[in-house]
Amino acid sequence: MMSRASLSILALLLGFSQALHLIQPEQEDFTSKILDVNHGSSEPLLEGDILLPGIKNALVCPDGSCFWKKSSNGLVEVPYTLSSVFSSSDNTVIANAMATFHSKTCIRFISRTNQSDYLSIESKDGCYSYVGKIGGAQVISLSKAGCVYNSIVQHELNHALGFYHEHVRSDRDAYVTINWNNIDPTMTSNFNLKNTNNLNTLYDYSSVMHYGRTAFSINGLDTITPIPDPSVKIGQSTELSATDILRIKTLYNC
Ligand SMILES: [Zn+2]
Repeated sequence: MMSRASLSILALLLGFSQALHLIQPEQEDFTSKILDVNHGSSEPLLEGDILLPGIKNALVCPDGSCFWKKSSNGLVEVPYTLSSVFSSSDNTVIANAMATFHSKTCIRFISRTNQSDYLSIESKDGCYSYVGKIGGAQVISLSKAGCVYNSIVQHELNHALGFYHEHVRSDRDAYVTINWNNIDPTMTSNFNLKNTNNLNTLYDYSSVMHYGRTAFSINGLDTITPIPDPSVKIGQSTELSATDILRIKTLYNC
């Protein structure tokens, strides 16, 4: 049994760590970076970085037309073109981000030859993507001014494979509290629940698709708080999580 004194000290320490958390936002929150870069983007963006082709949830797509097709060799080839504005170091970051998909899943991002459906990776005014395969040339924007990081490249590529943000998945209310009072009133739609196919995987705080705790905050306080443990890190992944990889393999049956 802990003494009353040590319990008090523990309570004090816990309170202190939470207070620290409030005044010291997470340092490595890459999703804040996405939202910062996209602030003022001329594109109408859903949840901060999703282009709207006519809203559909790619993860619930009965005819499969929103997903990339698997070849007879079992691989899912996703053709892409890369703008020539990217530097060689940008190209290295992007290639390394793709290489993780290649080594862990059946997805293969390949240089486009003459395929009609492909990703056009460009440096436009923000970091954003469509969700799933749209058909024809579909833009993924990775602004050179702040989007060319492994985490952001993998995040946007994963949107193009068909994945939404973790904090809007259908069962999120069991895993995070949305603090509506802290959300910029013009941004509340970014927290609307989606009818997602969660592929029998648990909610994943470490998903590269999870936004940070102060996303769209109007006052700097948390908009997303993990429950029951509010100190769980969110929005800080530097790469695809194990569950992100499992979901890709499940969705694409490989
Ligand atoms: Zn996103």
